[in-house]
Amino acid sequence: MRIATDLADAVGQTPLIRLRKASELTGCEIYGKAEFMNPGQSVKDRAALFIIRDAVKKGLLEPGGTIVEGTAGNTGIGLALVGRSLGFNTVIVIPETQSQEKKDMIRLAGAELVQVPAAPYKNPNNYVRYSGRLAEEMAKSEPHGAIWANQFDNVANRQAHVETTGPEIWEQTGGKVDGFICAAGSGGTVAGVAEALQPKGVKVGLADPEGAGLYKIYTGEDNPGDSITEGIGQGRITANLEGYTPDFICRIPDEEALPIVYDLLQEEGLVMGGSTGVNVAGAIRMAQEMGPGHTIVTILCDFGNRYQSKLFNPDFLKQKNLPLPPWLDRAPASIP
Ligand code: PMP
Repeated sequence: MRIATDLADAVGQTPLIRLRKASELTGCEIYGKAEFMNPGQSVKDRAALFIIRDAVKKGLLEPGGTIVEGTAGNTGIGLALVGRSLGFNTVIVIPETQSQEKKDMIRLAGAELVQVPAAPYKNPNNYVRYSGRLAEEMAKSEPHGAIWANQFDNVANRQAHVETTGPEIWEQTGGKVDGFICAAGSGGTVAGVAEALQPKGVKVGLADPEGAGLYKIYTGEDNPGDSITEGIGQGRITANLEGYTPDFICRIPDEEALPIVYDLLQEEGLVMGGSTGVNVAGAIRMAQEMGPGHTIVTILCDFGNRYQSKLFNPDFLKQKNLPLPPWLDRAPASIP
């Protein structure tokens, strides 16, 4: 094991973990790329690093400069930590509906947090649009520069997965990989891995949560419903998704994704967020479509402690009429 020069240098090179239950169920080998083992505990550290490096290379940012972003959480944590490691400040604009744990973590990581009411993209005060305006204003006065990370349409995000995630998967499996599948937020992960691995013959699929827009865009069929998963569910072809064509696509209800999250925790020791449940459900569907004997990789996106007040909160699940595993509903043992 080498010594990383700083925290930024410790991003990536995550293990692939065999998912026992999903593999047994399908007769395939299903592996999860352990992105929760990045320093910021999510897949978004990779995008954060590449976005910052790209801005520095283009001369838009010098040490002491500021990175501004609108984010549902994980990108903010990644930008704040990687930014701090490389000498930059961070301002994060977040919809106030995101989990308290993520907001606390962003503050803890040293970013300034600006909360805005949850509003659709067409509203000028939507968190993404607000962050773009804020960055533009700051760029006029910041002596060391200010940039808008713009994860959705900044293709430095996708490039992180073209140059690191995809090649790591290829190397770790010794090229013995038939499929890859994950959900899309910005689309950087799925489209970047596709750019790296589709030319090598790997089928790259998209798992869309219920209610998300990409399913309809790619298939023409409606995708009714709703999802409590955070960080995924895109309604448009972002710049990061341009050029990507899914080889396989499925829509995953929360009722299918959440039991997988609880099983991963109870049976395999993996404490994951909701998007990982959608990803593993997608990998199982893709494996069933391909048939036994194939190798399929998905993403274990982020660590579940970020969702204690939602995914792992019986009151929240009951209120949303979502499946509640009996072990989670147990009252804490009392000491006689
Ligand atoms: N899962 C979680 C928890 C996320 O925060 C994100 C990014 N918003 C994703 C999945 C999707 O990653 P990408 O932006 O690369 O599509």
